[in-house]
Amino acid sequence: SSAEQKEELTAQELADKGFKGHGMLAPFTAGWQTTDLHPLVIERSEGSYVYDTNGRKYLDSLAGLWCTALGGNEPRLVEAANKQLSTLPFYHSFWNRTTKPSLDLAKELLEMFTARKMGKAFFTNSGSEANDTQVKLVWYYNNALGRPNKKKFIARSKSYHGSTLIAASLSGLPALHQKFDLPVSFVLHTDCPHYWRFHLPGETEEEFATRLADNLEKLILKEGPETIAAFIAEPVMGAGGVIPPPATYFEKVQAVVKKYDILFIADEVICAFGRLGTMFGCDKYGIKPDLVSIAKALSSGYLPIGAVLVSPEISEVIHAQSSKLGAFSHGFTYSGHPVSCAVALEALKIYKERNIVEQVQKLSPRFQDGLKAFSDSPIIGEIRGTGLIIGTEFTDNKSPNDLFPPEWVVVMFQITHRNTVFEKLEVSLQIKLPRNTSDVCVFQAWAVVRIYTVYKIVTNINDFAGVGAYFGAECEKRGMLVRVAGDNIMMCPPFIITPEEIDQLISIYGEALRATEERVKELKSK
Ligand code: PMP
Repeated sequence: SSAEQKEELTAQELADKGFKGHGMLAPFTAGWQTTDLHPLVIERSEGSYVYDTNGRKYLDSLAGLWCTALGGNEPRLVEAANKQLSTLPFYHSFWNRTTKPSLDLAKELLEMFTARKMGKAFFTNSGSEANDTQVKLVWYYNNALGRPNKKKFIARSKSYHGSTLIAASLSGLPALHQKFDLPVSFVLHTDCPHYWRFHLPGETEEEFATRLADNLEKLILKEGPETIAAFIAEPVMGAGGVIPPPATYFEKVQAVVKKYDILFIADEVICAFGRLGTMFGCDKYGIKPDLVSIAKALSSGYLPIGAVLVSPEISEVIHAQSSKLGAFSHGFTYSGHPVSCAVALEALKIYKERNIVEQVQKLSPRFQDGLKAFSDSPIIGEIRGTGLIIGTEFTDNKSPNDLFPPEWVVVMFQITHRNTVFEKLEVSLQIKLPRNTSDVCVFQAWAVVRIYTVYKIVTNINDFAGVGAYFGAECEKRGMLVRVAGDNIMMCPPFIITPEEIDQLISIYGEALRATEERVKELKSK
């Protein structure tokens, strides 16, 4: 029967069917990728490594999606989940009913966050839900204080705050807005604090930070301070390319938002629990936030859970509202899911027992210095990072402004992406290009470049092709997975990575870099 036939397909075969066959509308994946390329199907994980369905082993340099801090097979997390599953797999926290794991976790988080005193924790399933919740909390708070016009949010260009309507709006990445009718109108964006890319000639880091804080103040004054509710920032920007703040930046922007009675939201979804070599990103940069979003490493990625930490001032106002409004009518079925909370509690216990902060501090120089030693590569503009998170940005001539020529998008991907490129060309040029043997392909690739340069055909596949993607593919070939976003490469390995594994990571990076340099040199000489 057809049902039996379906069961016989391996995961790889299922995935290879592309969007017509496999049922997933895959997140942050281009449709053509699922049809033109083989999806990578991961089957199991162990320590810092993941294995695909063909048994190939990869060093997982991004810790899943910046989350599996304790690596691929921490038995204590599995045991904590099993124990909770067999006692109480689910109960909610609505209507003053709740469970012990959620109470324990709230208490634990409030004790662990010491950058300032926090009042309450609200549980979500994800970072996006945490940031959506932030907006509702802030609005509720300002309504309670009788200032209904103080509702706008300021976020920063290149930030990433999630994918739901509001979290995507807060994010400052154009791809998250295009064709989604976003951002929503109450979200404004201010400067990205990326010194290397955006500083003026002769401007020091401190002067750059001052200028950005001044720009933030100008934006607030232009909009009217009475309309601005909150400012949201990642301590180190993650998905925007791993961008640590310039010296004095947070000191200066905090002074501005405080001056206008604007709340500060720290999006710690990537930074929390040791990533930067401090327990929280706020500790590293002297941030005293009113609200904090956490997720990811909270459960080491083993189960979905996020949280919002709320200052005592805000939680007290919300509490006082209850005598007028009754229930605080916001919550998710799985807010404080007992199994997720039990796993998170165990993860936090392990972070403490193993002195995770010290461990990251100890590993950080090997990781950071080892990779930053490649900074003088002619195709690298900047390598930046701190703790166990790092970004590489490929640019030409060591300049932030010399992006690699867009036509290289096509050359770099002459073979693997040929169908897409050719289809685009065929549509644009209204001709049918032959495509059979690989010899023809090489010739075609050459021809495509010529045609491409002449006609300047606009493709929208930059994120998946070009120098960054070439480097990513070279890493993958050598058994390492990195995050590619255009010509940005991001890495953020599990905290349990060993010094030897860091050396392996650096050595694969180096080999992939040399291969990419060769390819770029070849192209430049044409
Ligand atoms: N904030 C930040 C800083 C993030 O990096 C992410 C996820 N990459 C999110 C929020 C959204 O989290 P989630 O994917 O769990 O919704």
